[in-house]
Amino acid sequence: MARVELEHVDKTYPNGVRAVVDCSLSVEDGELLVLVGPSGCGKSTVLRLVAGLEDLTAGTVRIGDTVVNALPPQARNVAMVFQDYALYPQMTVRRNLEFPLRMRGAARAEIAAQVARVAALLDLGPLLDRLPRQLSGGQRQRVAMGRALVREPAVSLLDEPLSNLDAKLRVQVRAEIGELQERTKTTMMYVTHDQVEAMTLGHRVAVMDKGRLQQVATPREIYDAPANAFVAGFMGNPPMNLFPTVLRVDEGDATLTLGAQTIAIPSTQASVVAAGGRERPLTAGIRPEHLRLADARTSPSPGAASIAAVVEHVEWLGHETLAYVHVADDAVPPHGRAPASPAASPSIRFVARLPGMQALSAGAPITLAVDPPHLHFFAEDGQALGR
Ligand code: ADP
Repeated sequence: MARVELEHVDKTYPNGVRAVVDCSLSVEDGELLVLVGPSGCGKSTVLRLVAGLEDLTAGTVRIGDTVVNALPPQARNVAMVFQDYALYPQMTVRRNLEFPLRMRGAARAEIAAQVARVAALLDLGPLLDRLPRQLSGGQRQRVAMGRALVREPAVSLLDEPLSNLDAKLRVQVRAEIGELQERTKTTMMYVTHDQVEAMTLGHRVAVMDKGRLQQVATPREIYDAPANAFVAGFMGNPPMNLFPTVLRVDEGDATLTLGAQTIAIPSTQASVVAAGGRERPLTAGIRPEHLRLADARTSPSPGAASIAAVVEHVEWLGHETLAYVHVADDAVPPHGRAPASPAASPSIRFVARLPGMQALSAGAPITLAVDPPHLHFFAEDGQALGR
């Protein structure tokens, strides 16, 4: 087992695509690091650079204490698992597991011992004499993992290993991979575009966009304090609601614009953000779960900000309701006000994650509340402020 370190790694493909830009990243010995980001952001390229399947354009890759820049894949002691497990269809599970060891010319006794170890680890014993086509998708995935682990690699590299599985199986195999990593303490780099997989599986998560690392942190830190507006808008399910705003600080009062509405926030919170001046254009963010329904008949909880909104559509999920709304084009409605005109420009859209099954219907005006400490702020360049 080993540490993996990338220093100022760049990759430009021969066609001129700059897939990875100045990537510096370390994966600790025994750590499971998840690389996540939208399709085409360079995640697989990072993995392939570590595996030795692509040449670096610049920078250094180390595995353990060895600089591996010039080492071929087979000399790096890494195992790679791809989404299309690529098992040999004409070979039994046992032969598939034995294959990497045979290629290395291992002795018979060692092959038998390693296959037995991996079969026990992954519960493959009853499947050893079957062909891949006689296995379920999840079982095939386990065999592919077994084939990667049978060589006792220093590092395992997994590229979207679950994307061919149906939703239920994906959850199950995801848990199995997590448990397997716990037991074997293998250093793992795991690529996915699915932020739920990243949050549930990663000890740390590296978020990428357009070839650049955006943030490398624990799932908790990524959720609580996204480093920039991209991370805030990408991670979270549903992701954070972001909106353009102007923050004004005046005589100890602070307000934010939200379309045509104004939200009051504590001036202490505002002063951290608006240090540079009394009025500042920003991007603000609210997580869907930090919006709640305010009851117009009772006074709002102290300090909470009210947002007048109009329901666009509703998803009832049983344990919760996702309300897709647009921010109303005027101030908070007095109780009993007529529904907002549908002609109001629905420029700012929010999704609110509300508990249980809420009786909401499209077109209805609602009042949402948010506690100002739950607001996130991002500067013009997208960097997070004040957290
Ligand atoms: P991801 O894994 O995040 O989807 P990739 O690392 O596969 O992203 O790709 C990053 C960028 O590099 C994309 O724009 C992709 O089209 C490009 N790319 C990937 N592989 C090659 C290649 N062999 N030749 C040229 N461009 C490539």
